[in-house]
Amino acid sequence: MRGFVRVPMILALSLLLGGFLLIAGARGQVQSEPPVPPMVGDLLSGRTIIIDPGHGGWDPGARGRYTTEAIVNLAVALKLKAWLRTAGARVLMTWDSPQDIPPDRKYRVRERLEWINRQHADVLIDIHCNSGQASFRNPQTFYWDGAPSYHLAHDVQEELRYFTHSRRDVKRIDQYVLRYAHMPAINVEIGYLTNAQEERLLMTSSYQEKLTWYIFVGIERWLLKGRWSADLLDAPPPTDLLVR
Ligand SMILES: [Zn+2]
Repeated sequence: MRGFVRVPMILALSLLLGGFLLIAGARGQVQSEPPVPPMVGDLLSGRTIIIDPGHGGWDPGARGRYTTEAIVNLAVALKLKAWLRTAGARVLMTWDSPQDIPPDRKYRVRERLEWINRQHADVLIDIHCNSGQASFRNPQTFYWDGAPSYHLAHDVQEELRYFTHSRRDVKRIDQYVLRYAHMPAINVEIGYLTNAQEERLLMTSSYQEKLTWYIFVGIERWLLKGRWSADLLDAPPPTDLLVR
């Protein structure tokens, strides 16, 4: 159940920042004040995030019994995009509709990467489904190199562990996109299509909604680090704002 503690924590953080804004706003006219944190809903404003749903076109990726990876990757990527945009981020996608990739064509990793590296984004999130033995299940986040990518992967995987009660940890993997992306980059393998139970979950809109919430919280946590002083982020939430 620890996963559900994260939601109030983020809400508390948002309230804290909102309260700080009210206080700072009331004083703002008089003298120059430290930078004012943005309103709730703008926590990620000014950040550009690229989401790359794996496969597409004639390349379905891994296959489950009822669906394919490309279909699930796109559905999940669109839900993740919605969360990130709600928080004020600018979100770009390598493709965001089945019509973007002709059914007889493959969207090659190299073409994606060239496009990705031209966008000057802060973060790249690749979305894939895993495949393996029928008993394998649960999401896992991969990175290739560099502390930023590792920490981003770690923050996302920690949320996913809370969500799925899994003990899977982040893993280093040599993937073309992760290796050559010019920004912190991770690959979230959102679950195993080869596990019948998990395939059903991954096809369910409500599960996709929850899954992407936790991925979003992990990304947000990582992006907010260093943006405001540790004092502000570590301070307990102002209790008077929490009582209504
Ligand atoms: Zn894949």
